[in-house]
Order: sequence, then structure tokens, then C-alpha cells
Amino acid sequence: MSIKFLPADLHVHTMASGHSYSSLEEICRSAASKGLEMIAVTEHGPAMPGGPHMYYFGNSQVLPSFINGVRLLFGIEANIINMYGEIDLPSNYLQKLDFVWAGLHPPCIESGDLEFNTCMLIKALENPYVDGIVHPCNPEFPIDVAQVLHKANKEQKLIEINNSSVFVRPGSRENSKEIASLAAKLGNKVMVNSDAHFSGDVGNVKAALEITAQAGLSLEQVINANPDYVLEFKEKRHDVKVKVLK
Ligand SMILES: [Zn+2]
Ligand SMILES: [Zn+2]
Repeated sequence: MSIKFLPADLHVHTMASGHSYSSLEEICRSAASKGLEMIAVTEHGPAMPGGPHMYYFGNSQVLPSFINGVRLLFGIEANIINMYGEIDLPSNYLQKLDFVWAGLHPPCIESGDLEFNTCMLIKALENPYVDGIVHPCNPEFPIDVAQVLHKANKEQKLIEINNSSVFVRPGSRENSKEIASLAAKLGNKVMVNSDAHFSGDVGNVKAALEITAQAGLSLEQVINANPDYVLEFKEKRHDVKVKVLK
């Protein structure tokens, strides 16, 4: 795969997350200047110290669908808070969101052994509201990659290759290579995201793209290689949720 640019970035934070530094407008201006067509703002869930109150996630109807010509999707990077895969936002809020990513973050949950951490991700993937798992590469939370990827495939959910982790979480690059290589073999759908906490980093996925290219992931496997793939995935997940949760 020789993708050099991804038109959609599906994991971006504004200052509402408490440890990020840019406003939504600054994020969108930066995205537009870089030629991005779509972003998903996915703040940390309320369990993160300094994170937004749950009301933040319930008020997104005030936002326009496009800012500076960039399609704006609104989701959450929810915190997995126990071994049952539960996350930190009530379902009546989750159902309003475009995407629900779930991830393991200290201090919202303590890392256990490989079996425990794997179990948390498997259970989170069984949570009908969850659409994908972010930064499974985090060396602080060792996991059985094969089990998680098989489960993600079965549930038709996304696995993330996270650009920021490569720089802020030592050891993530090697873990991401393992995840991307197995995902290429198993045919997982992935998303390659910046996880930007500053406007200048929106759309910055250079290191993550190098990893996906080396792993041999195909263009069709990377859903944010095409905004239409993203919208198709969103619709498909919406239909599944309506069916499962009725
Ligand atoms: Zn995270
Ligand atoms: Zn994040």
C-alpha cells in the first residue's frame, strides 16, 4: 500500500478533553489547510481527569455538519472502566454519537496481566455501542493481539493504528507493527489516526502510515482512506445498533 495521505482523521481532541490545546475551530481550520475532507472529534470520556462532563456529549446538535468545508463527525474516545467492557458514558448519550471508540487509559483503569487486558478489550468489542478500539498498541496494557483482532473481525469493528502513540508511548511502534501485520493477514478493517491533541497535529499520520505500508495493509482495509468508506461504516454500525438495541 502506498497511501501518502488520508483525507479523514477519526480521532482528534479539542481543549474540551482537558489536556489538549486547541479549539474546535482551530482544529477545523488546520484540517482544511491540510486538505482534509473529514474529521471526527472524539474527546476523552468523563472518567478522564479534566475530561468533559457527559452533557458535552449530549449537545452536539448545536454543531454544524461542516466547518471550513471539513465534514465534522462527533464521537467519543470512551474509557473502558472495568473487566466487563463497560465504558464511561450512559447509553442515552452514546446513541447520539457518530462513533464510539473505546480505549484503555490510566488512571481510568489499571493494567492487569495479558489475559485480563485482553478480556477487557474483548468485552468492549462485545459492547454494542462500541465501534472500534483505539491504540491497542499501548505497551502499558499488554494484550493477546490475535484474540483481539479475531474478535474485532467477528464483530466487524475497527482497530486503530495510532500515530501519537508511536511518539508518546515507548514500545508502541513495535506493537503497532505486530498489530498491522496480523490485521493485514486477517483482513481486519483499520483506521489510521493522528490522535491529535494540538491543531498542528491534525491529519499527522506519517509514522502510522509507514507502519501500515510495511505491514501490507490494503487500501480497502483502511476506512479513512476514503470518506465514503467512513460514512458507509457509520451507516452499517447504526443499522446494527438499531437491530441489537431495539
Ligand atoms: Zn487514548
Ligand atoms: Zn485520544
